Amino acid sequence: TEFTDISLKDIDQLANSSFPLCMRHLFNKLRDDHHLKHGGRMQLGLFLKGVGLKLEDALAFWRAEFSQKAKVDYASGKIGSERFDKEYAYAVRHNYGKEGKRTDYTPYSCQKIISVNPSVGDHHGCPYRHFSEENLRAALAKMGVAGHAMDDVMDKVKNRHYQVACTMTFEAVHAASCDTGINHPNQYFAQSRKLLES
Ligand code: SF4
Repeated sequence: TEFTDISLKDIDQLANSSFPLCMRHLFNKLRDDHHLKHGGRMQLGLFLKGVGLKLEDALAFWRAEFSQKAKVDYASGKIGSERFDKEYAYAVRHNYGKEGKRTDYTPYSCQKIISVNPSVGDHHGCPYRHFSEENLRAALAKMGVAGHAMDDVMDKVKNRHYQVACTMTFEAVHAASCDTGINHPNQYFAQSRKLLES
């Protein structure tokens, strides 16, 4: 789904209009806390690569956030750009296949994201599976899901049909049908752009 490159200046607007809830959550947490743990960095980092964020932009994006003072008191506190370049830049380049075995790592599918077990303080995973009902309702309301659509989504979640719940969210926020269903965050993004750019 690498159909077009995205640029850093558009990223907030794209996150708000076309990221699935799992990536929106990570993105907002990173912007708010200026930090993400490893699982979150991998899940969001590979997704951003998949939507076409170039390596140089990815480095600038992560460096800018990690250089600000973390709001939560992580053992690391403020990372700073020097420490970022020493400890985290390698991992970003690694995700782009520029370090180590030079594998071009693939963005995670829904199945993989749904199957993880996040710990306290982690923000990766699938919100439909891993959020409390209260937090999920609040997050969906923020995306503009309301009324019957909200009830339908929550009903699917209760029956553990997380990808169907995500598909219904997609349909509610885009006011369009998604016949293929959602099986990958990058597919969610690609289909959203297709609808919003047409
Ligand atoms: Fe993300 Fe897939 Fe969960 Fe949707 S169903 S929030 S795209 S992991």
